[in-house]
Formats: sequence, structure tokens, C-alpha cells
Amino acid sequence: MTKAAKLKDFLSGSFIETSVERVLSATGAILPIVFETFQSSATGKRVDIRLEELPGFGMNVFSDGDGWLVLVPKGMALRLTALLRLLLPYYTDAEASPYYLNSPLDEFNEEMFWTPPSVAAIFEDYDSVEQLRRGLERTVFTRPLDPANYWCDIEGMVNIAILYVLMHEIAHITNGHFALREGIERNFALSDFNLSQDDAWRCLELDADQSGTWNFVFLLALEAVTPPFDDKAFTRLAMRAGFAVPALLGLWDHRKKTVGAFKKERYLPPTIRHRVFAEAASLAVAKLMPADHQRVWDALELDGWKRCVLAFHAVTFDLGTQDQPKEKLLWPLGSLVYGGLASNAVLSEIYSEEIDKLKRFRAWRKTLIL
Ligand SMILES: [Zn+2]
Repeated sequence: MTKAAKLKDFLSGSFIETSVERVLSATGAILPIVFETFQSSATGKRVDIRLEELPGFGMNVFSDGDGWLVLVPKGMALRLTALLRLLLPYYTDAEASPYYLNSPLDEFNEEMFWTPPSVAAIFEDYDSVEQLRRGLERTVFTRPLDPANYWCDIEGMVNIAILYVLMHEIAHITNGHFALREGIERNFALSDFNLSQDDAWRCLELDADQSGTWNFVFLLALEAVTPPFDDKAFTRLAMRAGFAVPALLGLWDHRKKTVGAFKKERYLPPTIRHRVFAEAASLAVAKLMPADHQRVWDALELDGWKRCVLAFHAVTFDLGTQDQPKEKLLWPLGSLVYGGLASNAVLSEIYSEEIDKLKRFRAWRKTLIL
């Protein structure tokens, strides 16, 4: 298929269908590697992964008799595609730091939460994939895009983000989280480790993020490190991952949250999750890839994150000047309130506290297993 033909595909509605099917086949292509590498040794159980006609935002994992079933909603791939389509025109070389160091979005009030109709379809609930698809086609997919610069990246980034989530879900399975959930629900000796139930729920997610990121990089390495080492492929992967992972976290974060909520609830803010990703990925690259690549990875990953934050902010203010009700702060993309906190002392403190809890959680886990 020529570039022009693919472009036509993309601009016509059929891109959505094609993209979902491609995500499915990309996911399918990953499976044998996942099984061989992690599953049989870690669990001795079968893991089925299926793309389903679900309009949701995230994957679901079920214990399925003698194995596991991971459901990947088509809605998730569609929403990611739409969000990247929204963000990528704002991909820019402009200096990002004024936005993410002192974001005007730092000061916000939940009452001001408001999503412009032109992008609401990405974040709304729908009963069916078809309904979601129609909602996106009427709104986000009518927004202008300069595909000459970006078109080929959207699908790749969606695939990367799906892989990231898949590795997160599989980490829940391989790290024995389903058994741990029972322990948390029964509040089994958590206080001996100075953990609340909500702390423990967040630790499950952090644990899955850390292990999942390791396996995610491992799979990227398999693609990039097939000898001879392909520097271009590696660079491209790092750039895509650097942008796609924060975009995904932003998608999930949209319906959340006040800055203080995670202190007492189960919620992990995206900047915390992003930092876990950045640190785990960096270590994994150092271990799994040729020398020097960690430096390149770190720079590109950080750059992708900055650009993603900048794009979230830019689209927020851009839409705000178009259709914002006067009494509302423009708030289409809630996650990036945390963008402004990402480098400051408050976030660092929260992050260290969470990592400290994760250590205590792992000590608690040992007492359950032994
Ligand atoms: Zn999870």
C-alpha cells in the first residue's frame, strides 16, 4: 500500500476500523513472545488476550478456570487514536518548561471541570463501540490534522500504549495480585506494615507498573535489538513511547481527581505513574540494550513527556479560547493539572512516600506467601 493510499485510508472513516484490526493483529503478534518469555515460567497457566466489542477505557483481567483472560476493549484503542489525533497537531519544538514548571492549571477547582463538546466524545461513556465510533467521527475526527507529519505515528503509538497496558495487566497476573487482593480485602495484617487498604490498592498498581514496564521494554528491545542493532528503530520507539505513555495516562486521568485524593483513596496521579515508568524503563534499557542506549532513551523519553504535557496544555488553552463558557476554567484534559507539579518538591515528596509504601507492601506480600 502506498503512502498516499494509507493516507486516504486514514482520513476516511475506515481508518478507525483498520486501526482496531491492526491493533488486534499487533497484539496477536506479541502473544507468542509474551507466553514464551513470561507466562509459562511465571504462572504455568494459559493467558488468553482478546480484543472485545467494549467501549471502555481500560483492560479487564479475569481468572478463567485454569487460566486467565485479558479483555482489551476496542474502545480503548479508539479513544487513544482519537486523543493522539487531538494532541499531535500540538507536537512542537517550543520550550515546554514554562508550562510544566508553573502551569496555570496548577490552581484549579473541581467545580470548574468542564469538557468542550468538540472533544467530549473521547471521554464520555458509551453503551457500544459503534456509538463511540460515531461520536468520535462527528467531533474529534473532523478536527484538522496535518497527516504528512504525523499520520504514520498514531497507529504505532496506539500499539505501544496498548502493549504498555497489556504488560501492566499481565504483571498483575504474574505477580500474584489476585491472591493479594483477598488479603487486602480482608485487611490482613496491613497495619503491621503501616499500610492502609487504600495504600495497598495503590501499591498493587505501582507494582504492576514497575514490573510491567520492565517487560514492556523487554519486548521493545526484542524488536529494536534484533541484530544488527537498528539505531533508527530504537530512536523511533523511544520517541513514540515517550509521548504515547503520558498520553495514555492523561486519557485515564481525565475523570479524576483532586490533587489530594490519592492521599486517602486508591488513585495514583499520572505524574507519579509516569515517574515510575520513566525510572523502570531507564533501568530496563540499561540492562537489556547495548551500552549508551540508556542515555539516548532517557533523553528521548523525557522529551516525549515534555512535549505531551505541552500538547495537553496547548490544546486545553486553544479549545478554551474557542468554546469555553465564561464561568468555567477550560478543562478538557484534567490530567495535566499535574504537569505543573511534575518537577517540584511536592511531587517528589509524594513520590518518595509512595515508593516507600511499595517497599513495605512487598515486605507484607512476603509474609503472605511464606
Ligand atoms: Zn492495574
